[in-house]
This record gives sequence, structure tokens and C-alpha cells, in this order.
Amino acid sequence: MDSSPVDLASYAKIMTKTRRDRRFFFATVLIYIPAIVITHYFSPTNRAMGTVFCIWVVILIGTTFRVALSRCPRCGNYFHLHGVTLLILRKCLHCQLHINTDTVS
Ligand SMILES: [Zn+2]
Repeated sequence: MDSSPVDLASYAKIMTKTRRDRRFFFATVLIYIPAIVITHYFSPTNRAMGTVFCIWVVILIGTTFRVALSRCPRCGNYFHLHGVTLLILRKCLHCQLHINTDTVS
């Protein structure tokens, strides 16, 4: 946004939230198979499987929106969203700010 020196401390709060949202998103993606397997073990009915799937989809949509709408503290744009393209990478899609910039001393 400007050429002033980078104040990493001011980035820390936003970047911590962004990293937390990313971890929650990846955890949601990874929990799907174990959740379906466990549900199938205890109740192998279409109704139970469908219920778990619908709950998982709702959680996935919520976490995806949280990740997609996280802002970059340096440029102010969406960190993982460029146009309509959602890329959950480790750098800002606009200014290339790394996700761990504030933790590097
Ligand atoms: Zn940026």
C-alpha cells in the first residue's frame, strides 16, 4: 500500500487469525473421511451418512468463507482470493506477503 517500513507487530494479530482460519479449514477437509468411516461403523444408514455429510458441508462452507475473506495486513486485499479464484497458498496473492512474516525474527 505504501513504502513505509514494515511494522511486523501490527501484522501479528491479523496474521494469527489468518493462520488459525487456515488450520481450521484444512482440519475440516481432513476430518471428512474419518467422520464418514466412524459414522458408517456406528450407524451405516443413508440417513446418518447424509446427516454427517450435510453437517460437514455446512462447516466447510463456513470455514471456506472465513479463509477466503481474510485480509492481507500489508496491501488490504483478500489474502487468498484473486478475482473469483481462491488459492490457499502461503503468500498473499496480491503483494506476496508470506503467511509467517510476523513470526520471523
Ligand atoms: Zn497483500
